[in-house]
Amino acid sequence: MATKPPTGDPVQDAPQVEPAPHAAAGLPAVAHSLRIAQQQMGVRRTAQTLLKVNQKNGFDCPGCAWPEGDKRHTAEFCENGAKAVAEEATLRRVTPGFFAAHPVADLAERSGYWLGQQGRITHPVYLPEGADRYEAVTWERAFAIIAEELTALGSPDEALFYTSGRTSNEAAFLLQLFAREFGTNNLPDCSNMCHESSGSALTETIGIGKGSVSLEDLHQADLIIVAGQNPGTNHPRMLAALEKAKTSGAKIISVNPLPEAGMERFKNPQTPQGMLKGTALNDLFLQIRIGGDQALFRLLNKLILAAEGAVDTAFVAEHTHGYEEFAQAAEAADWDETLTATGLTRAEIEQALALVLASKRTIVCWAMGLTQHKHSVPTIREIVNFLLLRGNIGRPGAGVCPVRGHSNVQGDRTMGIFERPAPAFLDALDKEFGITSPRHHGLDVVRSIQALRDGEAKVFFAMGGNFVAATPDTAVTEAAMRRARLTVHVSTKLNRSHAVTGTRALILPTLGRTDKDVQAGGKQFVTVEDSMGMVHASRGNLTPASPHLLSEPAIVARLARAVLGTGSRTDWEAFERDYATIRDRISRVVPGFEDFNTRIARPGGFTLPHAPRDERRFPTATGRANFTAAPVEYPGLPDGRLLLQTLRSHDQYNTTIYGLDDRYRGIKGGRRIVMVNPEDAAALGLTDGAYTDLVSEWKDGVERRADGFRIVHYPTARGCAAAYYPETNVLVPLDSTADTSNTPASKSVVIRFENTRSV
Ligand code: SF4
Repeated sequence: MATKPPTGDPVQDAPQVEPAPHAAAGLPAVAHSLRIAQQQMGVRRTAQTLLKVNQKNGFDCPGCAWPEGDKRHTAEFCENGAKAVAEEATLRRVTPGFFAAHPVADLAERSGYWLGQQGRITHPVYLPEGADRYEAVTWERAFAIIAEELTALGSPDEALFYTSGRTSNEAAFLLQLFAREFGTNNLPDCSNMCHESSGSALTETIGIGKGSVSLEDLHQADLIIVAGQNPGTNHPRMLAALEKAKTSGAKIISVNPLPEAGMERFKNPQTPQGMLKGTALNDLFLQIRIGGDQALFRLLNKLILAAEGAVDTAFVAEHTHGYEEFAQAAEAADWDETLTATGLTRAEIEQALALVLASKRTIVCWAMGLTQHKHSVPTIREIVNFLLLRGNIGRPGAGVCPVRGHSNVQGDRTMGIFERPAPAFLDALDKEFGITSPRHHGLDVVRSIQALRDGEAKVFFAMGGNFVAATPDTAVTEAAMRRARLTVHVSTKLNRSHAVTGTRALILPTLGRTDKDVQAGGKQFVTVEDSMGMVHASRGNLTPASPHLLSEPAIVARLARAVLGTGSRTDWEAFERDYATIRDRISRVVPGFEDFNTRIARPGGFTLPHAPRDERRFPTATGRANFTAAPVEYPGLPDGRLLLQTLRSHDQYNTTIYGLDDRYRGIKGGRRIVMVNPEDAAALGLTDGAYTDLVSEWKDGVERRADGFRIVHYPTARGCAAAYYPETNVLVPLDSTADTSNTPASKSVVIRFENTRSV
């Protein structure tokens, strides 16, 4: 029988610490998956959903963007996928009665975990100006309120249309079309906070901002470097791909300030051998200092250049540009500086070099540990240099592999959700719809917060997500959001952003991936694009959580009709009636989607073209793959300070908190913890189990505090600390961002400790 949501709050945050395991998945993962699923859905619904997730005729997991192989297992999901499905398909409900009983001020006092555990929102609700709680509202009235505010703006650029990566291709395409027909490119999205640095670096160096490898390539690689990523928690089924590569003889290097159980040993629940013994993954663990990755790859490049016959000179000559300038910069790399920047030993780097030189097919995978630093873009460019040197792009078993977070974050960008759209995309859109899209760039996430803060943006519309919890500088962001005239959230469940409102606010409840979607044109499906450029269909199979929900495409179509009125020649009604009409238009606007409706009907979908992977053709400014030679950077650290990285626990997906444990790090029952290296702790007088306040330091002199964190002595790299977000996003300065990509530098925050006390 599914359980009731927690009523009492605050849910006690009392972290306990036990030894961290040295293996991921296995029986505990199966047990946790089924326990959480049963708690939220009960037994029957658990079977109904978990046997359909990631199946070719099923729905796409609302968790991460890891791809499926052509052959599907009966259970084609991981523990965190099961948690994501359970949270969405929960039997718990948030009705108008709930909102009547919980004023916004009360919701604002609740933890993110408590809010998320209340269940699916059943009705559209509205917070009128001056009111203290949300009340039920009709959809017609809700769209009229939004139209009122949008049409009253002095400029379309006073509106912001935010997209979280769970939004389907069809809804994303309609949202960008609406925003551009309305007159703005203000389309910030969650990519701005995660892989924007990857997109910027790859577009410049290889001509496309996406990974160049398939799942098959991972299985064929003989060296896989996993840098700044924790697959065991954030992309768990990636471990199965690493295991398969390992079984075929591949070597694996992980580069991370934290040892992670998932890279030590993977107990694959799909096989008895896996379940019991598992497979050791790491051949070499480089416990690098936060932000030391660019220096590491620069030195490896120097050593490759010096190694006899190590450079693929034919590839370099035929396909690249800028080799000389790069080689000069690489040869200047200094051992001592690199050892300082990385915290690694000479022996460790030489071990890595030996594995690199022995490899014929190398793939580098990465995630936020590389993308959320001031120098993230040069770091990723250096990785491209590293792969170009030995021709590891555009052939089987080799390439770049930025592993995306949200299940359709890559698809949303492909559909045009981008504040800096390519002129060619706008040309195609304008031609197809007979509109005149704005050509000036819009605002990304950080600039959107600055515009709200400065009163330049007045309406905030979010398609999914939990903006105020996911973004940096929480105190600034929340104050900025409260300056808006209207905040609108299209959501499935409650979260913090619903309690931090503009003068007026709306919550518009929508269908989830697990829900059946029936429109006037019959049963509908949506499509998503995974981290490796595979586009496939997703068909929900559950009766929706309430008859009062609208699908994402329907919400955008009705919004557009309410705002644009008869002035729009776009047939928004047809889009709502049958999503095939949306895909027809996509096929004429977005390259790679030709004949979309026919190709998507194939079980498993299709792979988008990728010129560097498919043809070793590099659509860059030079028409070649570009070597680059940026100066090496790494974060400095004043005495008595540590460098903090914000990260997820194992019971978390972005800002969705599934539970209060972080099983793979031995932490239970609480989230306000800070992991500190025991030697650093001794030097700073930080006793294990004591409590302390974290204070971040930034050039603006503003004091940003996060109080009451339990100190956990943990084998982090020296000088480096770690704590969970969103609790520590308050410490990340809004203006502390990556050069070029403007991604918040959430992985390198200088902190000091105050008021340390034992309790
Ligand atoms: S690996 Fe990612 S996409 Fe796959 S089941 Fe797990 S959370 Fe879902």
